[in-house]
Amino acid sequence: MLSPLQQLDLRHIWHPCSQMKDYETLPPIVIERGAGSCLYDTDGKEYIDIISSWWCNLLGHCHPRISAAIHDQLDQLEHVIFANFSHRPAIVLAARLAEILPRGLTKFNFSDNGSAAVEAALKMSFQYQAQTGNARKTRFMCLTGAYHGETIGALSVGAVDLYTQIYRPLLLDAIRLDAPDCFRCPFGKTRDACACECASAAEASFAKFGETTAALIVEPLLQGSAGMRIYPAAYLRRLRDLCDRYGVLLIADEIATGFGRTGKMFACDHAEISPDIMCLSKGLSGGYLPFAITATTERVFAAFYADYREGRAFMHSHTYSGNPLGCRAALAVLDVLASEPIFATAAANAEFLTGELNAALLDHPNVGEIRHLGLIHAVELVADKKTKTALPAARRTGYQIYREALRRGLLLRPLGDVLYFNPPLNTPRETLARAVALCREAVESEF
Ligand code: PMP
Repeated sequence: MLSPLQQLDLRHIWHPCSQMKDYETLPPIVIERGAGSCLYDTDGKEYIDIISSWWCNLLGHCHPRISAAIHDQLDQLEHVIFANFSHRPAIVLAARLAEILPRGLTKFNFSDNGSAAVEAALKMSFQYQAQTGNARKTRFMCLTGAYHGETIGALSVGAVDLYTQIYRPLLLDAIRLDAPDCFRCPFGKTRDACACECASAAEASFAKFGETTAALIVEPLLQGSAGMRIYPAAYLRRLRDLCDRYGVLLIADEIATGFGRTGKMFACDHAEISPDIMCLSKGLSGGYLPFAITATTERVFAAFYADYREGRAFMHSHTYSGNPLGCRAALAVLDVLASEPIFATAAANAEFLTGELNAALLDHPNVGEIRHLGLIHAVELVADKKTKTALPAARRTGYQIYREALRRGLLLRPLGDVLYFNPPLNTPRETLARAVALCREAVESEF
């Protein structure tokens, strides 16, 4: 029986990333409140939010310090035009970010979602090349399996067919480098013991297209939407070297990986590299408000800095650029990260979760691999453990497990047949243990 709210929802709302017909048998779950790592629906049923509500809720729902900061800001200034005007929260946030971001990233362009931050990065790098005597550099490179958002520019540098295929005729012609596939390594190596043999494909692509490429965009170390694929830091270093060699800007999309998700503040820190441009969102505001930043270097910034009449400015804007509420949420997140042992907790949680998942699922005949980077853990389901053959897509195994997990009070939203845990960094151990037990039940109900 649908509640009146569910009926009204289905009458009017077109939910994101959904086949709405599926809602006939799985109606929307109407959430009334959140607390810590859990959500509660209108019937009071609890759901463990093991995916941080699309990877954005970094420190749990309704965190008192973040909520208080937003309340405080709300009584002072909710929004102001950000061209020619500024405000204290944005200024302080920019200065604080400059201290923690990889070396050299000191200039910040504000927007309000991840795709917008990526669009800004693409336009910025294209214009940078045009204004530094490299007008031939007009194309973008990305990795196979890449995901950078849903707007047309961001989709153009995405390579997950599910999202891009139908729009192909509209998209920019990006160059796709063969990304590492460490689970099914074509060189028969393992992630921790290889010499990045697969980087030869990137080298060949740079040799062919490097001279005409403006920028390479990557999700550093973790290709999220591709199924939480993890690749070695050494591969990212190789890409940095190639970009330097061919005068290609490196854009690091840290929208999903930033702020401690991977065990370091940024995934780039594992490789000890600095990109030329970095995109931030999601955890940046703790998942509280739509908020994003495109960070870049003095060198890139300088290519736009000139007398107005030269027409070199970055004429790019979003109404909600630098929204003060988002800035205060972001400042509160940085305050919590600086004053509480969140990273130590996350590291201990990661170790605990690895142990629990391995004990619960590693021996399962349909579990091909359990991998992790920081607290992000992925369980890749397969038809055959030995051959690593994928399950037939039409079976929708991941989706069925999603439904089973929801029934049991676990919000586990697989990417195809990859189950993943990407919880708030401060999730209590008991909650993690319960989530693993529920996940195992859901998996067992399917096989
Ligand atoms: N880049 C990455 C790596 C992401 O994970 C996402 C969102 N899942 C985006 C970009 C797009 O962000 P948004 O959904 O806020 O547009």
